[in-house]
Amino acid sequence: MLWPLAKRRHLAPNPQLAQRVIEVRQENPEAERWLELVEAAFAEAGTDMAWGDAVLTIVTERPVRAPILHQAQIAVRRRPAQRWLRQVLELAAVDHGERAVPHEVEATALLEAAICQDDDRVDAVGLRTNVDPPTLRVIAQMFALPLLQTCGRALAGHLPAGSAWWEGYCPVCGAWPTLAEFRGLERKRWLRCGRCATGWEMAWLRCPFCGETQHTNLGYLAPEAGETTRKVEVCDSCKGYVKAEPTVRPLAPWEIVLDDLATVPLEVAALDRGYHRPERPGFALEARIVEA
Ligand SMILES: [Zn+2]
Ligand SMILES: [Zn+2]
Repeated sequence: MLWPLAKRRHLAPNPQLAQRVIEVRQENPEAERWLELVEAAFAEAGTDMAWGDAVLTIVTERPVRAPILHQAQIAVRRRPAQRWLRQVLELAAVDHGERAVPHEVEATALLEAAICQDDDRVDAVGLRTNVDPPTLRVIAQMFALPLLQTCGRALAGHLPAGSAWWEGYCPVCGAWPTLAEFRGLERKRWLRCGRCATGWEMAWLRCPFCGETQHTNLGYLAPEAGETTRKVEVCDSCKGYVKAEPTVRPLAPWEIVLDDLATVPLEVAALDRGYHRPERPGFALEARIVEA
């Protein structure tokens, strides 16, 4: 057992990721609060110590529009989950000046609520901590990230073939896309999930949130100066928005999350113009976390 070294193990696991974290930190001081946590979550996701032996049981007879994890059962080991939760709470509580109460929080309950994106259940778990609800919702997602990434990798071969997935939400975990990629020379549009890193192709003119295809109702906001490649796709039917960027190849899982953090100003521009992200997840996932 190497528990005492666990924290050290998470420092600078991936030189590219570490470099990108430095850039994001310089350009976006407001992201600072989360960077260490994101870095630790991807280091955790990269080790198979805790999550590689999670046992995933998926249901094959799912409703046609249900993501793969719907009604799935995932068995995880208790101690590594508690250890990772403790680490997440410690990393996130640094700026609070006060300590969360990790031992009173049931790791599997929080994991299940986070994977299902059930904010009410996350908030209920949060009543036993001294972390404010909006913060705990982010913490819960970072806590669930290594397991979701592990599921995403494991299920990559089970995705609906070609363009068989028409929904705007992630075919694996049901989340709305974190961003859209315009990939390669052909500039094909791929939606990417920041939780499980899954990508799915979608037509250029189609709102992921409401399915709008009328080009008169779809548009984009571009930054006024400096950066010209990134933009925000907006839909005037549902007032939804998703950030978009050109890529040469599929973004690495950590790039999705760091690019999301690095483009908060684009987000603010969209919010200022009355656009918003849907309050509810794309699909009300029902997944169960049990102790192995
Ligand atoms: Zn996903
Ligand atoms: Zn829409």
